[in-house]
Amino acid sequence: MPRKLAAGNWKMNGTRDSLTEISALFDAAGGAAEVLICPPATLIQAAASAAQGVMIGAQDCHTEDKGAHTGDLSAPMLKDAGASHIITGHSERRADHGETDAVVRAKTEAVWAAGLVAILCIGETLEEREAGKTLDVLAEQMAGSVPDGVTGDQLVIAYEPVWAIGTGKVPNTDQIAEVHEFMRKKLTDRFGQAVADDVRLLYGGSVKASNAAEIFAVADVDGALVGGASLKAADFGPIVKALNASA
Ligand code: PEP
Repeated sequence: MPRKLAAGNWKMNGTRDSLTEISALFDAAGGAAEVLICPPATLIQAAASAAQGVMIGAQDCHTEDKGAHTGDLSAPMLKDAGASHIITGHSERRADHGETDAVVRAKTEAVWAAGLVAILCIGETLEEREAGKTLDVLAEQMAGSVPDGVTGDQLVIAYEPVWAIGTGKVPNTDQIAEVHEFMRKKLTDRFGQAVADDVRLLYGGSVKASNAAEIFAVADVDGALVGGASLKAADFGPIVKALNASA
């Protein structure tokens, strides 16, 4: 399994015209790192048919496989459309939809039950960081939202400080290193060294071509989850190339 992963989260952006941005990643995507784009669900099927060398994922799923849940999509449905990965617990869903750690855990279990990879997001707010509570918050989120039975091929964890998402603000490399080392240790304590070493840890929050190489050089950073800079191949391609160069 390739160790490095460059994942793009398009959020609520993109129509069929945008699919050319995925095909334009072809050159950058031929390296050592895996490349994943999570477009809006409306584009998953078309993107998965068109994508060469780029995996396609979803941004959320329901906890159940099917039923009376108007407007929701289940993990098996997203798999059927062509998704290989599903993001769970993104801070925008935690904030906009009141998703608790228990909900995120159930969604992650649903992703695994469908045979897909979960990219589970955790991260502190600025208020929590300034109060010196970052590691406590992350420990609580990991304890509450990471299910039992983790394997390295089913779980990716993305550390996304809420204050860094879409703001242009990025923690310094010491802060990123501290958190990633902490996450690896928490996984080791709970699941053992071998599993902890296999789980990939991504950094997310205002990653750009200009800061990617510096972030990818940090120990325990296995790639990035990228929002705004994943929308255009001209922006995301250089990030993928920086990850390839670090692999
Ligand atoms: C995200 O929302 O997952 C994200 C990292 O966004 P951005 O790269 O735009 O900060």
